Amino acid sequence: MAEIETHEYDVIVIGAGGAGLRAAIEARSRGMRTAILCKSLFGKAHTVMAEGGIAAAMGNVNSGDDWRVHFRDTMRGGKFLNNWRMAELHATESPQRVWELETYGALFDRTPEGRISQRNFGGHEYPRLAHVGDRTGLELIRTLQQKVVSLQQRDRAELGSYEAGLRVFAEFTVTDLLRDGDRMAGAVGYWRENGRFVRLEAPAVVLATGGIGKSFKVTSNSWEYTGDGHALALRAGARLINMEFVQFHPTGMVWPPSVKGILVTESVRGDGGVLRDAAGRRFMFDYVPEVFKASYADGPEEADRWYSDPDNNRRPPELLPRDEVARAINNEVKEGRGSPHGGVYLDVAGRLPTEEIMRRLPSMHHQFKELADVDITSQSMEVGPTCHYVMGGVEVDPDSAASAVPGLFAAGEVAGGMHGSNRLGGNSLSDLLVFGKRAGTGAADYVSGLERRPEVDPAVVDESVAAALAPFEVADTRGAENPYTMQSELQQVMNRLVGIIRDGEEMCSALEQLAEIGQRAGRLAVPEGNRQFNPGWHLVLDVRNMLLVSECVAAAALRRTESRGGHTRDDHPRMDPNWRSRLLGCALRDGAVEVSEQEQEPMRADLMRLFSREELEKYFTAEELAVVETASR
Ligand code: FAD
Repeated sequence: MAEIETHEYDVIVIGAGGAGLRAAIEARSRGMRTAILCKSLFGKAHTVMAEGGIAAAMGNVNSGDDWRVHFRDTMRGGKFLNNWRMAELHATESPQRVWELETYGALFDRTPEGRISQRNFGGHEYPRLAHVGDRTGLELIRTLQQKVVSLQQRDRAELGSYEAGLRVFAEFTVTDLLRDGDRMAGAVGYWRENGRFVRLEAPAVVLATGGIGKSFKVTSNSWEYTGDGHALALRAGARLINMEFVQFHPTGMVWPPSVKGILVTESVRGDGGVLRDAAGRRFMFDYVPEVFKASYADGPEEADRWYSDPDNNRRPPELLPRDEVARAINNEVKEGRGSPHGGVYLDVAGRLPTEEIMRRLPSMHHQFKELADVDITSQSMEVGPTCHYVMGGVEVDPDSAASAVPGLFAAGEVAGGMHGSNRLGGNSLSDLLVFGKRAGTGAADYVSGLERRPEVDPAVVDESVAAALAPFEVADTRGAENPYTMQSELQQVMNRLVGIIRDGEEMCSALEQLAEIGQRAGRLAVPEGNRQFNPGWHLVLDVRNMLLVSECVAAAALRRTESRGGHTRDDHPRMDPNWRSRLLGCALRDGAVEVSEQEQEPMRADLMRLFSREELEKYFTAEELAVVETASR
């Protein structure tokens, strides 16, 4: 095969969202020659779309907040399935990561006293989300990009070139990871503009590719989120955990059809918005589950008093964790109390004056006016659940973000464990800063400790390129499969059969249908055109990943016979303490997805003591509690 463009780095970071940028900044700051690769334009990642804010227990608005409260909220939100060490690191380090962003130039909204302002969000006991109106992700990305540029300027002054130590490859899709034996050796990818392939040699690879939402029909996710990082990790020999847990955000737009799924930020509820059925009834009071009853108001009077006196009243049930609110909305619609377009009403107009709405929720105002001709300062929004976030991802060591494959690291949404069975809003932006930094450190330490750089086998690169180009050569056009049709079929299967409410028979059917689609995927052909910017070809490559990841979601979901967080089964509607400590892992064996069970490491006793025994009894088995009590004596 002809020579292909080749580059050598110490660390390559796949993904330029918050996790990838923070990892790259760290790796470069530690002297590593680093490349950042991203599928879309530099700056266009999910992180930039984040609206509500970054969760960090800084205690600026309520001094009662500290890392322990944040840790407790995160564990409760994840129904105690979280990797507790990740949740601990996250809660203790996120304030530092937010303050650090200020040193990079971030301009947060302020309290009247001049501190970083923090807003309420579902599942967080105190106002905790540092924010910039409802455009927090934009500021986060702007700031991290500015830091990248400043490092490049330093390199230019010291090494003579902006790209000597840190280069961005934008509109560049990674198709395969490369190994030398069992350890990382680099990656193969192509420029989307011209279809030319590139070989990147590096001993350490950080995956920061975000989520998988495009495998579902109704989603807040944009086109890039086809689970590439999850699939790359699987094919490289790493394990995915918690893939059955997919978050359906309670409030996506439901009308008009062309915008169905687009996110309506939780800040609307955090800032006072309430949910009503078609008859105007505030229904969330009917849906406070037993485990949360002590902390949530049971009537509108107390709920409303909470906004001005949070210390002496319980929280409104609209601020329950997302899984609870999404199920409640789903049920209202199912029982015929929904809005004309199959959602419910979210009302902020009756709760805040126009100027406050315009100040706090400018993007939401613009979004509804432009897309639905609804003025949220005077009208209610129609909303319903939308696939938003995947809790499952690459199994990593909490401290270093290292996967089981030497040299492969993962951070941000592509990593699993931190959020357990359900993520709290705002905990992703903090997650990606905390673990992005840790992944950069982990990768740099790994490279520094190597005695020998890995070598890339050119034949493997040739094979990878040939496989990616094969869809141009599918000869029998009558039997050829169209990627757009196949993607749509897959999305329908996942939405219908592995969606917000699941059932064993439906998931068996989903697995059968995915297997059938998988067999046809071998005949996927590029619909037309050549390698120059060809969306049909790009989608063929994406569908491979979507299929693999969807199979993991469906297979793990079928195996977990309980309901917990982002996994709700009609046929197993209760949470089962015997499942709490069991994680499901997905790996590839001879090309097929294999699901296996593993035990969680028991939570450290000092962390267990942050919870009351009464609360722990709701989640843990009697045997687990007895072990902890013996250990603490
Ligand atoms: P992303 O920011 O998703 O970036 C992934 C990167 O990987 C991109 O650069 C992409 O191009 C690249 N990539 C993917 N595949 C490949 C490939 N094959 N080759 C090369 N590059 C690749 N969370 C909060 O905490 N607070 C919020 O307020 C909030 N609001 C949200 C609003 C919306 C509309 C959405 C969709 C999400 C929101 N979230 C929020 C979730 C949060 O934004 C994401 O979980 C988070 O940004 C993920 O960050 P990341 O760095 O892991 O990946």
